[in-house]
Amino acid sequence: MGQVGLHGLAGLVVGEYVLTSFVQAPTARRALLYGFALGNFIPDLDFLASVAMFPINQEIALELHRGFSHSLLGALALVVGFFGASLLMRDTYVRYLGIGLALGVVGHFTVDIFIWFAPVDVFWPASIYGLIPPVNLWWWWGEPPLVSRLLGAAEFAAFALYYDHLVRLAVSFNTNREMIQIVRRMATICWIIWAVLTPMAVDMPNETFEKALYVPMGIVFMPAVLYITWRMQATIEVMAVQRKRL
Ligand SMILES: [Zn+2]
Repeated sequence: MGQVGLHGLAGLVVGEYVLTSFVQAPTARRALLYGFALGNFIPDLDFLASVAMFPINQEIALELHRGFSHSLLGALALVVGFFGASLLMRDTYVRYLGIGLALGVVGHFTVDIFIWFAPVDVFWPASIYGLIPPVNLWWWWGEPPLVSRLLGAAEFAAFALYYDHLVRLAVSFNTNREMIQIVRRMATICWIIWAVLTPMAVDMPNETFEKALYVPMGIVFMPAVLYITWRMQATIEVMAVQRKRL
């Protein structure tokens, strides 16, 4: 997984400064950036399936994560699917949205490879047939349980940073005014949870802490971040065409 909020932030910042530099047409820029912002969350949707399994069997739950959803094939499937839809709908926005989503998936697993201490199955399903193993830059690193619990608690700090950034953008562009209060509240809630969870991470047993952390994450906070990002479409798309510095 690797700090869902950081994936969101990367989606906004990389999208604004890098992705849109290559495309001029406003519709394409809007669709690319919005797709990229959402696409950065897509791979961890498999986490929702993991969460359903987590209280029952942690090992199976963790195996469900970072396979097809974190692969080049998954990204390609998005491009092909949305390309087909764009032909049927005769809508270039949909085509660029698909490309944005796919690039978001690639951006997500690239970040995971470097900053998340676990293998990422980029070439899935080649790994299943033993052809190309999952990419693992961290094979030499045995992560201490305390570090993993602190990183788990920091998920909420990352969410809060992402929400704070969205609020700043919406205020500066004067967009999504109906959402600003809600997003601000979510940022505050996430900062508070982070402040509460961090000391708990120090002395709670691993299994209890992980259940307390990941079940609400999957049930409440992951769907919430997707919903909020989806609703902030106007803000994200205006950023694609205005490139206003904060
Ligand atoms: Zn991930």
